[in-house]
Amino acid sequence: MLRRINAPGGYLQGPGALSSLTDVIQMMQKKDAYLIVDAFIENLYHDEIVTGFMKAEMPYQLAVFGGECSWQELHLHQAAGEKNDVIIGIGGGKTLDVAKAVASLLAKPVIIVPTSASSDAPCSQLAVIYTEQGMLERYLHLPHNPDWVIVDSTIIAKAPVRLLVAGIGDALSTYYEACACQASHLHQVQGARIVYQMAKQCLETLLSQGIKAIEAVKDGICNDALEDVIEANIYLSGIGFESGGLAAAHAIHNGLTLLEETSVYLHGEKVAFGTLVQLALEQRSDEDILTLMTFCHQIGLPISLADIGLTEASDEHLLRAARASCQDEAMGHMPFAVRPEDVLSAIHRIDALARPFNKPSC
Ligand SMILES: [Zn+2]
Repeated sequence: MLRRINAPGGYLQGPGALSSLTDVIQMMQKKDAYLIVDAFIENLYHDEIVTGFMKAEMPYQLAVFGGECSWQELHLHQAAGEKNDVIIGIGGGKTLDVAKAVASLLAKPVIIVPTSASSDAPCSQLAVIYTEQGMLERYLHLPHNPDWVIVDSTIIAKAPVRLLVAGIGDALSTYYEACACQASHLHQVQGARIVYQMAKQCLETLLSQGIKAIEAVKDGICNDALEDVIEANIYLSGIGFESGGLAAAHAIHNGLTLLEETSVYLHGEKVAFGTLVQLALEQRSDEDILTLMTFCHQIGLPISLADIGLTEASDEHLLRAARASCQDEAMGHMPFAVRPEDVLSAIHRIDALARPFNKPSC
């Protein structure tokens, strides 16, 4: 058995971390950056972004992200950034994916600066490509993780609270999925021992600090709880999922995306529901499930079908998602065979357990 850790080359997090961007570029012995910046973030943080480059007297070229991580967008930046020696992505998931993919096409290093902690994608060596119409086209597996990930917690603290909550939902799944992959003994390569420690630490951090971190974002301030949760959402979960593996929670998320009603819910919101369903598939006790469900309910993550827009869904409709989730590669990482009927009855068990809870307010 081979042990694996996939991680970015460096990780920097804290209030004002963005101002260290040019130091990191210098440390990498690069000197001419090509920045791809989310339009909304460019408006809000233009001065913070360019001041560092002016102070360091470092040349840079700033391009605004066009809105879709499509081949057309990639080729545009590939041509424009050809002469620069480092690619930098600043913004949300799709902006960061463009930066990663463009750097890979140009065989240049990449620095990733996420502006929310809404998923564990920033540290990964994956980019998701869409058509220009926004339909999922393919997952692009990149040759390596980002060279650096820089997370400015002042910026994250000012992002919408729903994004942090969704990031917690995505990160809640990591430990359970890594454990399922480990138990399945399917792979020649598994996460190194530290990966499971990180995934466990991730879950414990979310459960103990999640509510305080959400309060901090509601107030637009940084505190230790927020720092811990940002680290859990972006770094611990990022290493945990990529090295430890995905299982039923993400397979169920992927199945749910087929149902139009769920399209307004964020990745991490659907993954949180998928995590509860995974626990039911694993035949865990009601007590175990209710512990996680109570936490999800408290912070406004979905716990029932109604919470993901499926109030009136028939079994036939739900089976569409269940069948797709069973065809998903990640479902094959479970340590036992899972049939669509198993997924359907696990969904019903979760929905029944959620009945006594009131509908979340946000
Ligand atoms: Zn995810």
